[in-house]
Amino acid sequence: MTDPEELAEQVREGDLRIHELEDHTDSDTAAEARRLFVERETGTDLETIGDYSFPAEAADPNIENMIGAAQIPMGVVGPVAVNGAESSLSSGTDGGAANGEHYLPLATTEGALLASVNRGLGVIRSAGGADARITKNGMTRAPVFRVAGVAEAAETVEWVNENGDALAEAAESTTSHGELIDVEPYVVGDSVYLRFAYDTKDAMGMNMATIATGEACEIVERETPASLVALSGNLCSDKKPAAINAVEGRGRSVTADVLIPGELVEERLHTTADAIVEANTRKNLTGSAKAGSLGFNAHAANVVAAAFLATGQDEAQVVEAANTITTMDAREREDGTTDLYASVSLASLEVGTVGGGTKLPTQSEALEVLGLRGGGDPAGSNADALAEIIAVGALAGELSLLAALASRHLASAHEDLGR
Ligand code: NAP
Repeated sequence: MTDPEELAEQVREGDLRIHELEDHTDSDTAAEARRLFVERETGTDLETIGDYSFPAEAADPNIENMIGAAQIPMGVVGPVAVNGAESSLSSGTDGGAANGEHYLPLATTEGALLASVNRGLGVIRSAGGADARITKNGMTRAPVFRVAGVAEAAETVEWVNENGDALAEAAESTTSHGELIDVEPYVVGDSVYLRFAYDTKDAMGMNMATIATGEACEIVERETPASLVALSGNLCSDKKPAAINAVEGRGRSVTADVLIPGELVEERLHTTADAIVEANTRKNLTGSAKAGSLGFNAHAANVVAAAFLATGQDEAQVVEAANTITTMDAREREDGTTDLYASVSLASLEVGTVGGGTKLPTQSEALEVLGLRGGGDPAGSNADALAEIIAVGALAGELSLLAALASRHLASAHEDLGR
């Protein structure tokens, strides 16, 4: 059946359920019928939501009950200048996958954000670019098992610690890309948590890690007294603010830093290294500590969220992906002038260039702009590079906002650009 009016009527009459439309027609017609039904039920006009340009079928793995698309303005900042050795952690070397200059697409509704990040990126370029490195890489899944008590818990932990190879063999039988890096046991009373960490190469890896861990759990249940209660026991920890991600990392742990000559701070940021350092210490460090914050930064989430939306990452993971510590230090030169050392360290940036939302046409074009669409060579290098570029973008945002605060023109920038 291809008449959306007729299908919408069948939904209204209760002959078809709203999620069954794709069983009777193609994905675009199903979306149109659902839109017509919702328009009539709610007295709305969904013309703009329905005016999307990709085939609805392309989004079949990403959305149920589709009615259209949320169109978020996308802009671009850059070039993002990243200095690094041309190698990647995932290939067994020391990071620096994003060597060179890249334009970074950002999708947001926050006026002034791209202008601010672009200002910071200009200063970073003039300073010769930022260094960025992945310092740890591991997507985690932590199932929870029930045991009778601590004696069985200890027996289970001992078996896990002695049988890493068997766990890796089982887990890796489910994937041609994923590699099991580590299994860290945690015991709480009669619960045992095993935090599995994988190198998922260019995939963010949450499905991959979950499937692989499910296979490994079968051996744990066979060989130990432990019984699986849930494949995710929340020590992973996915899409929740959690100290474990901030301390142990999740996905990519990435640091970006830059040394900005004092003259450049004064000419381009209209302040001094000392004033920026003071703003960072009192706001990002002391203020965040007093607030009991998990992140110690000004607004890293702005760049992380906008890059996630533009490039098809799982937006709910911004919760932990934006967990950032920003440091600023005044470094005196021999001639008495003071340079600014600035860094951001994102502990748990979960990104991919294959799988999930990265395949969608808009998001895949945005990855193409970065030169990072699809799998990298070697595998993992594209996701490493994406993490490094986002980190430099976040560094630019931190620099620009702290400079604005230090020079006290934040309010006027928002007035000019945001409203
Ligand atoms: P995915 O789309 O499920 O799988 C990506 C697959 O791409 C990999 O498993 C791999 O297949 C293949 N692949 C091809 N080239 C690759 C390369 N160069 N590097 C790595 N893999 C490559 O994506 P995912 O990243 O595992 O999971 C992301 C999705 O999970 C998102 O849609 C997210 O919203 C969702 N998610 C799931 C959960 C959950 O608990 N299941 C939780 C949060 C989010 P092989 O494995 O066969 O090698």
